[in-house]
Amino acid sequence: MLLLLAGLFLYPSLQGQLPGASLDVLHYQYSLWLHDDNDSIQGIAEIDFKALKADRTISLDLTSLDTAGRGMHVSRVEEDKQTLAFQHDHDRLNVSFNQDLAAGEIKKIIVYYSGIPADGLVIAVNKYHHRTFFGDNWPNRAHNWLPCVDLQADKASVDFLVTAPDHYQVISNGILTEQTNLEGHLRLTHYTERVPLPTKVMVIGVADFAVNYAAQVDCIPISSWVYPEDREKGFRDYALAKDILPFYIEHVGPYPYRKLANVQSKTRFGGMENASAIFYSEESVKGDGKVESLLAHEIAHQWFGNSATEQSFAHLWLSEGFATYMTLLYLENKYGPDTLAARLRADRRKVISFSKVRLTPVVDTSIHRNFMQLLNANSYEKGSWVLHMLRRKLGNKVFWQGIQTYYADYAGRNATTDDLRKTMESVSGQNLRPFFQQWLYTPGQPKLNIQWSYDTAAKRVDLRIEQMQPVLFDFPLQLMTTAGADVLSTSTQISDRVTNLKIQFPRKPKQILADPDTNLLFEAEIKEN
Ligand SMILES: [Zn+2]
Repeated sequence: MLLLLAGLFLYPSLQGQLPGASLDVLHYQYSLWLHDDNDSIQGIAEIDFKALKADRTISLDLTSLDTAGRGMHVSRVEEDKQTLAFQHDHDRLNVSFNQDLAAGEIKKIIVYYSGIPADGLVIAVNKYHHRTFFGDNWPNRAHNWLPCVDLQADKASVDFLVTAPDHYQVISNGILTEQTNLEGHLRLTHYTERVPLPTKVMVIGVADFAVNYAAQVDCIPISSWVYPEDREKGFRDYALAKDILPFYIEHVGPYPYRKLANVQSKTRFGGMENASAIFYSEESVKGDGKVESLLAHEIAHQWFGNSATEQSFAHLWLSEGFATYMTLLYLENKYGPDTLAARLRADRRKVISFSKVRLTPVVDTSIHRNFMQLLNANSYEKGSWVLHMLRRKLGNKVFWQGIQTYYADYAGRNATTDDLRKTMESVSGQNLRPFFQQWLYTPGQPKLNIQWSYDTAAKRVDLRIEQMQPVLFDFPLQLMTTAGADVLSTSTQISDRVTNLKIQFPRKPKQILADPDTNLLFEAEIKEN
């Protein structure tokens, strides 16, 4: 990755356009002007793209003016200083060239625009009543303030050149390449990110910050950007990032970016994984270190979601399920297996209660517009549970090899659930189709009715295990039979509707526990007959 970061060439986005896409954006350069006395922004977007089809017109996303006067107004579009005809309505900016573009042709257009962002760039006072500007693009809100192809399948490198009153500091993706004071108490701040990003994690943050350089890990500077009022607590809380970054570098692969900034912000989410400039909610700073798992989650996204990006939101678990499970692995490594098990049990309760409200598979292709609905227990906790079961199935060594290979193959690119399956199959030598099918493409999880009785004469426990859910699952079930000092652990493969099991045991059990080590996503009722 470091090799690709050097130099000034454009990084081609190699893969990931959705079928039928008409262009592939290679690079965005956004020059933005922000003000203290009004919420209008002025922008110049320079967009380098490759035409994928022979066509005269290209189409970008950009929010049009609404009845309240919010949204963007485009004043001019040009190519090589020539004005191009354009049409801007229904949040689409259609630009017409003077002649057909050839498929494969590389072009650059410049869009001049202005307006009050209806969303996406949140201009508001913070909890201490100071004016702030925070990008908040997830899932596809970037086009409220940036002309772009607002899909994670079209990744591109990006430059932000922000001109703002000089009392502000500016944070953005990538590395700081210029800071120049201008006339009229303004300052120009320029950040460059050469690694292609999905628009959902492109960002600027403009506020009066207190900034701390907390540490350097593998030549990656880690900084904390907090409200000056939260300086001490915020620096203490966000400095935990220096323990988290090395864990992922060691276990997954090289960090994809050249810095890591953790930023207190006005994001509507608890945390938002913007590439190399992670935004956390205003309330994340407490000074008590409890923010550690949130930091671990958002930092994990730098690999999973930002660098290896899901092809579409149907595969969101490749981002959220991974960030959730990587957090558990980090916590297990630091605090031990009991912490992992406790978190898994809590997550399992969430998955089961969610499945009672909404029974859909993790790979959910039914949502095409309201992607916020996908921020649910399937994408997060169930996705994480599937990785946990995969780890138990493959063993630690093969699991990590698979994760490393998947990341190495898809870093800077896009992936589907099937891409992950194929990687895991090639690393493990196992057919994982049934596993992926039942846990990711089938809704719900096993619901077991377990009845047992004890045959005193034969010294034997007779069990009847029934799968109650509509679709049968195939999984190993661990049972622990106990009576005082007598403890017996058994493992059985369950695949039929009803499994009858006989276990030799010296006396009548006090208790029979299913899944004592927390390795199965299921629910069960266990009764003595
Ligand atoms: Zn997340």
